[in-house]
Amino acid sequence: FFITLEGVDGAGKSSHIGHLRDLCESLGHDVVMTREPGGTPVSEVLRTMLLTESMHMETETLLMFAARQEHILSVIRPALRAGKVVISDRFTDATYAYQGGGRHFPAARIRVLEDWVQQQLQPDLTLLFDVPLEVARERLLKSREQDRFEREDSEFFERVRNAYHARVNAEPSRFYVVDSSRPKADITQQLQDKLTAVLAQ
Ligand code: C5P
Repeated sequence: FFITLEGVDGAGKSSHIGHLRDLCESLGHDVVMTREPGGTPVSEVLRTMLLTESMHMETETLLMFAARQEHILSVIRPALRAGKVVISDRFTDATYAYQGGGRHFPAARIRVLEDWVQQQLQPDLTLLFDVPLEVARERLLKSREQDRFEREDSEFFERVRNAYHARVNAEPSRFYVVDSSRPKADITQQLQDKLTAVLAQ
């Protein structure tokens, strides 16, 4: 079972990751927790490059998919074949949202790379952590040092958030949208109910 976590920077997905793992384990599953870009030694090197170096959006998108290819072949596919639950902090929806929405990279080209690299692999469930942009920006400015993407302006993040919403509208059955402006305990309960229902099937 393949679960991905998405949302604009500052939407609060990091604060629920640890809990999600515990939850899946308590339901009797072996869990592989991973992230994108990253998740393998090569993909982590690409991540560092992506988060620090300025580059053309074409190069950025290709590197995202290069990192993803390595991640799928060496981590995600083997874990799914072994019957594990894979939880990835970001996946291809982030490419549609950030490179597609944020940078106006054509979605049709992302689709070509997606088909080639993923070969039918799609998340079974995507949790979208969603908050009003002002809340996300405020959290971000207060938090850790910012990477290259997090320093973009608020119009960029608005396009990213809108692109995520378009993904949800196009494929509502795969997504579960979490309103991250609600109290943390409510969200924890909501996630617990959702995962219990989904993983018990
Ligand atoms: O979620 P996390 O903060 O670890 O993501 C690292 C950075 O990479 C974020 O700033 C995110 O916006 C960016 N990113 C991106 N395109 C992707 C995946 C991540 O711009 N496809």
